[in-house]
Amino acid sequence: MPYRAPQSDYHFLLRQVLDFPAVTATARFADATEDTVTAILSEAARMAEDVLAPLNRAGDKHPARLENGVVRTSPGFAEGFRAIASGGWVGLSADPSHGGMGLPLTLNTCVGEMMASACLALQLNPLLTQGQIEALEHHASPDIQALYLPKLNSGEWNGTMNLTEPQAGTDVGALKTRAEPLPDGSYAITGQKIFITWGDSDFMANTCHLVLARLPDGEPGVKGISLFMVPKFLPDAQGNPGARNSLQVVSLEHKLGIHGSPTCVMQFDGAKGWLVGAPHKGMAAMFTMMNAARLAVGVQGVAQAEAAFQHALAYASDRKQGRTPLGATAIIDHADVRRMLAEMKAEVFAARAIALACSIAIDLAKATGEPAHQARAAFLTPIAKAFGTDIGHKVAHLGVQIHGGMGFIEETGAAQFARDVRITQIYEGTNGIQALDLVGRKMMDGGEAAFRLIDEIQQGAEAARPQYPDLATPLWNAAEALREATESLLQSPPADRGAAAVPYQSAFARVLGCHYHLRAALSDAARLPLARFALRRLLPEHAALLAQAREPMAEVLAIKPEALAS
Ligand SMILES: Cc1cc2nc3c(=O)[nH]c(=O)nc-3n(C[C@H](O)[C@H](O)[C@H](O)COP(=O)(O)OP(=O)(O)OC[C@H]3O[C@@H](n4cnc5c(N)ncnc54)[C@H](O)[C@@H]3O)c2cc1C
Repeated sequence: MPYRAPQSDYHFLLRQVLDFPAVTATARFADATEDTVTAILSEAARMAEDVLAPLNRAGDKHPARLENGVVRTSPGFAEGFRAIASGGWVGLSADPSHGGMGLPLTLNTCVGEMMASACLALQLNPLLTQGQIEALEHHASPDIQALYLPKLNSGEWNGTMNLTEPQAGTDVGALKTRAEPLPDGSYAITGQKIFITWGDSDFMANTCHLVLARLPDGEPGVKGISLFMVPKFLPDAQGNPGARNSLQVVSLEHKLGIHGSPTCVMQFDGAKGWLVGAPHKGMAAMFTMMNAARLAVGVQGVAQAEAAFQHALAYASDRKQGRTPLGATAIIDHADVRRMLAEMKAEVFAARAIALACSIAIDLAKATGEPAHQARAAFLTPIAKAFGTDIGHKVAHLGVQIHGGMGFIEETGAAQFARDVRITQIYEGTNGIQALDLVGRKMMDGGEAAFRLIDEIQQGAEAARPQYPDLATPLWNAAEALREATESLLQSPPADRGAAAVPYQSAFARVLGCHYHLRAALSDAARLPLARFALRRLLPEHAALLAQAREPMAEVLAIKPEALAS
């Protein structure tokens, strides 16, 4: 089943449901005219459909491998990456002063989704480079920016993110990698990093590692960490790749999915690096990269869900099995199969709307500098990451179910979506960690950002009430339940919110997604059946989730490890 990019959904969401016109009305993004947006989306769709999608199976069947210290990539990936780079897609929303195109991140979100639907394993390469570009734009010295950004934006070089070590996963502060100052102002980096995505390849002219390490006077924990640019080849006087740096790929991981993405164990043996940002402030700088990547990973979940849905829809329309109440024989006419397909489509719509709403808030924050947009973007980021990837997992598994036994057989491709998307719930901070961020840091404003969104949902329900009272009322009530749950969370210390975090995050996403469904129905009556499905069948989940969120954490911790083991 060939992938078809959902261009009309992007146009509809951006203009009819979300406030993308507010982005293009700003001076900063005035170049993003309607014609430009249409051209960008259709050109990216063409590349995703014709160039990247045909590589997806090859990446799965012929994983990246390590040969005598060189990472050999999957067949066709080099050509696929060249298409991404030559199309200018890496630097789409980067600063034009270093070779970026300066377009809204919102467009990059759509383009990233199309690329990730087509070939998730390859799309990780530009995704991480884009995160690195953003970190360098904000935190690197002018010299480093001038040297690295043009080559990263053009796709000549790629960027990686090196946080994880065997003993330092979620707890980044436990890292042991060291940075020793050298007389010339650079640093010698020594240590081992694991799970480094696209840590090397056989088609990039250089690979630039952003590495977290501790200076000799760095205190233990996250406050003592600094960030360094450590390239595979040291740039010469002209800025071209020169001498080989003392770092290497020790091994590649064997994984459940994304086989075409090399996941590297990296060894740094006194490798030369340069400080990015201030000493001991590495986490703040790396956080810029991680934040960009969190939203982008949420979009990966949406992307895989879209691809899995298209696959399942085609199969269900073709597969004949039994007589149905509608008289036809294709399984799409069995009510249970139709239910699964509707659920898949409804989840994709909601998660895509949330990811785009988050992107728009980021663009508006950049263009206007208004703190309210910044706060909205910060609040939506963990929701977009967790919900996008949770529905990615759910939808991909529904896709397997719709295929019946053939879903379990690799040839159909349905299983690959389920395997590939699984990691998205884990990397860039597990979804549990996203939820802790949501109910912790993101509520340090006294819940202001949360309450603003809840107000917006209730205003949306009021606007819909005259036309669709049966949908508006449950949505308004759900938002009110969310308000009460938020107030009650705010009354407990952040340390006591741990067991409430994930159900609260899921409930918020559920209610917000239904808000966008209702707006879609108001704007286009053809969208009403799907909106009705979402609001009548999926929205009620919020009540069970919030009931869990209200339960005290002590009751979870009362189930002692001995009781779990008995
Ligand atoms: C394919 C792949 C690609 C990756 N790419 C990169 C990359 O490019 N760069 C990079 O630096 N890393 C990368 N990672 C690492 C990834 O980000 C980590 O695996 C992830 O952050 C989780 O860390 P961990 O695996 O050590 O799990 P752990 O931290 O051991 O977590 C295990 C479980 O405990 C929970 N947990 C841990 N701490 C807490 C806490 N404080 N509160 C509540 N729950 C907690 C987690 O949510 C999780 O469920 C990649 C990993 C994989 C598998």
